[in-house]
Amino acid sequence: MTVKRQLSMVMDLNKCIGCQTCTAACKLMWTNRNGREFMYWNNVESQPGKGYPRDYENMGGGFDADGALRLGRQPSQEDYGIPWEYNYEEALMTGTDPWLRPNVKPTWGANWDEDEGTGDYPNSYYFYLPRLCNHCANPACLAACTRNAIYKRQEDGIVLVDQERCRGYRYCVNACPYKKIYFNEEISKSEKCIFCYPRIEKGLPTACAQQCVGRIRWIGYRDDEDGPIHQLVDKYKVALPLHAEWGTQPNVFYVPPTSPPKFGENGEQLDESRIPLSYLESLFGPRTGEALDTLAEARQAKADGRGSELMDILIGYKHSEMFKLS
Ligand code: SF4
Ligand code: SF4
Repeated sequence: MTVKRQLSMVMDLNKCIGCQTCTAACKLMWTNRNGREFMYWNNVESQPGKGYPRDYENMGGGFDADGALRLGRQPSQEDYGIPWEYNYEEALMTGTDPWLRPNVKPTWGANWDEDEGTGDYPNSYYFYLPRLCNHCANPACLAACTRNAIYKRQEDGIVLVDQERCRGYRYCVNACPYKKIYFNEEISKSEKCIFCYPRIEKGLPTACAQQCVGRIRWIGYRDDEDGPIHQLVDKYKVALPLHAEWGTQPNVFYVPPTSPPKFGENGEQLDESRIPLSYLESLFGPRTGEALDTLAEARQAKADGRGSELMDILIGYKHSEMFKLS
């Protein structure tokens, strides 16, 4: 699918502190009511972990190596997590219950396995992975829709659901391998991240990027050669798509996390990263090692006082340089 321009996002996982400010910003703006309570258009997961919805990486969808659409399975409400409320009135106002209690017994939710990670001390590890719709260049959700209700905007490549045309068949939910399109049972229609297009049209970044405490997010057009997206994705090649093998051609890219060395049995430092390269490659593909090498060289150049354009971009001194929306 060709569009005139493609708006994209890069996130530097080395800067994400897992504060969920982006998640809250998105939820308060778009999904805190009217059947959307279980939806997190933006969520932040701890990796390795099961993610949100639970085990989404094993639900299928996307395209096979020959380009044929694969319909995966739909998550259950339990896989997303059933939204719960607390007894604020009794616990905080009247004092009739000494404990804050949820009104359902939750078994999963967005960020349920926060900070669990994997491995044994002192070689245990985790990192944060913020996720939203990738506004893919080859969207499986769009390919699966028998109503032609899903479309990519010509001017910026944002993927949207035409609510008038959607009849709630949910093939899109089966087909999206990232499980970033959701079925709203209250209105019987599918809904998803809209890349805050009303803000974009006013020259403002998405709420998740504007509010990001770690300043990990850059937004811009892929074809803007002076912009941060082109520089990080195409020039320095340090930003990579998540699970490119699923065939949807994502337009959200990640700078993979670097990690300290592993410790040996006697406490000595080994010549091996604490986060195994093989694990990162399973997420970000075979170019992950090259990206990490480029990052290491740039950091060393900065530390030596030689200067590094790449590090200056990644530091993100000014929002005006991180968000290039024209
Ligand atoms: Fe569609 Fe999923 Fe790609 Fe978003 S991430 S455009 S919902 S296939
Ligand atoms: Fe990470 Fe930024 Fe979201 Fe905080 S606001 S969790 S730093 S992406």
